[in-house]
Amino acid sequence: MCGIVAAAAAQNVVPALVDGLKKLEYRGYDSAGLAVITSSGIERIRSVGRVAELEADSTNTQSVTGIAHTRWATHGVPSERNAHPHVSGSIAVVHNGIIENYESLRRELTAQGYVFTSDTDTES
Ligand code: GLU
Repeated sequence: MCGIVAAAAAQNVVPALVDGLKKLEYRGYDSAGLAVITSSGIERIRSVGRVAELEADSTNTQSVTGIAHTRWATHGVPSERNAHPHVSGSIAVVHNGIIENYESLRRELTAQGYVFTSDTDTES
């Protein structure tokens, strides 16, 4: 079962995002990721494996606003490409559960020219 953490504060929230994910590890997961707002846009870090790896990968990242996620794959294999957050332009999304009508949504959006970068139902 996945976990979601979000934080906005006056100081760097990356440690709080990682600590939040660590508290949710007991729920089980196959991959983890975070996305934060920086002066140069959204910075995203994802990892297949333990939250400790995500923590190690994010030591140089700082932001006052971010979201984080531990994934339990339902649509698409556990992989970095399928790990959340999913990003489109200036929007980053994490999601818990299943979007039942994702196939028809994906068909509709593909016909409109949208390109998907994961196999998840979340991105539809
Ligand atoms: N259905 C989504 C996926 O496969 C979310 C799974 C979850 O709840 O972690 O990425």
